[in-house]
Amino acid sequence: MRITDVKVAEAPITSNMANAVISFSGMTVSVIAIATDVVRDGERVVGYGFNSNGRYAQTGLLTERVLPRLKEAPPERLLDPETGLIDPVAARDVMLTNEKPGGHGDRAVAVGIVDMALWDAVAKAAGKPFYRALHERFAREGIAVEPADTVQVYAAGGYYHPDGTIASLQEEIREYLELGYRDVKMKIGGASLDTDRRRIEAVLSILPAGSRLAVDANGRFDLRTALAYADALSAYDLLWYEEPVDPLDYQSHAVLAEAYEGRLATGENLFAMEEVRNLLRHGGLRQHLDVLQMDPALSYGTSEFVRMLTCLRSAGWSPTACHPHGGHQYNLGIAAAFGLGGCESYPRVFEPFGGFADDTPVEDGRVRLSDAPGIGIERKAALRDLIHGLFA
Ligand code: MG
Repeated sequence: MRITDVKVAEAPITSNMANAVISFSGMTVSVIAIATDVVRDGERVVGYGFNSNGRYAQTGLLTERVLPRLKEAPPERLLDPETGLIDPVAARDVMLTNEKPGGHGDRAVAVGIVDMALWDAVAKAAGKPFYRALHERFAREGIAVEPADTVQVYAAGGYYHPDGTIASLQEEIREYLELGYRDVKMKIGGASLDTDRRRIEAVLSILPAGSRLAVDANGRFDLRTALAYADALSAYDLLWYEEPVDPLDYQSHAVLAEAYEGRLATGENLFAMEEVRNLLRHGGLRQHLDVLQMDPALSYGTSEFVRMLTCLRSAGWSPTACHPHGGHQYNLGIAAAFGLGGCESYPRVFEPFGGFADDTPVEDGRVRLSDAPGIGIERKAALRDLIHGLFA
């Protein structure tokens, strides 16, 4: 299996909404298409990749560093000797040639995009759904939980809109429940504590029994504010309190974990195993309770995520503590392949990059994995059409 061509494009996911820290008015996504010499069912195998929302397109890093290294590597260096197909694990090592340790950031996003596209191509070439191909690849390395056919998902929304009201927030949450979600998430920290309290109570008042609400501050607070919110949030039975403080401020996490009895969630802005290891060492998080949200699409892809899972295991954590950020079929496949606790979903935002296959609706808070070969992009018509349009 050889790469014959790579194309890079950008797409907007512009919206007038905001969380506590950023507006999405100029948000972009990188999309890449990796063509191969494999032909299946009369069609050339092409793998597609894109990044999760929130980190912008990575055109420069892709075209100047990451992709030239793949192109210049001897093709056999990218191959899996067992299958003869491209091995995304080997490709990651090639992509990170001459990159110093640390300083993960946008570089991790660029490599994650390519990892998604390579896995899409490899799984299509093997005629298997991504999550099955992924399971088989890493079962060889001792990561061998039985893949799940369905994954728990929750609806992430509840952003701040310029003309948003309590009624429009409630309407949005009702839509998620009607779509089949049980648990929902809303933003906090973009308004005063009093206003956020009213927003939270308005959502809680319409949730049926069995549904729970998570709140997400996007790392906005200093420790004093995070503690004030923790105190206020203690009055409610929440699913979790997400990213209260800066993602790399481990000591503040530890102070919060002492003070707040509810569940904390964090990790979507940790991009390498070493950062996760520091969180586990110094963040005071509780294995039986707290949630980790590292997003493989933003953090060098599947092989780095496996390093994170190995680190978690050796620190006594279960993979069920992981609920990746991102809300797309790549992270859903990873959640299924590695027995994670669940996966984020954006039913109404970041379309069409967010969301799952058209033929796998959410039912009672779970979504079934598509049986299509590859990641499943072709099973989501709006995404397929947008991507095909970009490369037409
Ligand atoms: Mg978040």
